[in-house]
Amino acid sequence: MADPKQQYYEKRSQVLLKNLRSRHFEAYYCASREDALAKALELIPKGAVVGWGGAASAQQIGLMEALNAGEYRTIDRDKATTPQERVQAMKQCLTADVFITGANALSLDGQMVNIDGNGNRVAAIVYGPDSVLVIAGMNKVMDTLDAAVTRARTVAAPMNKQRFQDRQTPCEITGACADCKSDGCICNQILITRNCNPSGRIKVILVGEELGF
Ligand code: SF4
Repeated sequence: MADPKQQYYEKRSQVLLKNLRSRHFEAYYCASREDALAKALELIPKGAVVGWGGAASAQQIGLMEALNAGEYRTIDRDKATTPQERVQAMKQCLTADVFITGANALSLDGQMVNIDGNGNRVAAIVYGPDSVLVIAGMNKVMDTLDAAVTRARTVAAPMNKQRFQDRQTPCEITGACADCKSDGCICNQILITRNCNPSGRIKVILVGEELGF
């Protein structure tokens, strides 16, 4: 008998794929991270300039490793040797051919929620790169848009903040969001992508596994 969680994810993905496509996203479902990696590489043309941000799920499926080793021109801010170089890399991503990111949450009706501290990630999702590739585990899918925003704010952001220990926020100490206005707040921009415009610019690969934050 198939794994119940796999069946659950597969069935929910069918609803979400239909709704994402109705909003002009290109959307795919891959049961495993291995299949998701193969699909992602199929969607990125050889020779493309590829950047990323907020892409823990893409890291987890091995996409950055494959891109850095392949025939692509990658913009990897983690290779920057100074803060200035890092900022420059983030700006370069805004004109990349392909920008790779994740989703903090998706609603079953096909909307995507992302939270950002600096704003570079949500900027690239909104406008700039010709193509945006989103890798999202099915653990990110909520029944409603309200629930998706709640997940992004109370689960994804406090979990993500544990990675950044530079300027302390309440969630870093307690694990719970306190709706802060701290210097170190990573929730300065909240983006709801209601439709994809131009049609097909944003490609979503849903993965039948738990990925990211
Ligand atoms: S406490 Fe601040 S940084 Fe942490 S999740 Fe809430 S708003 Fe974001």
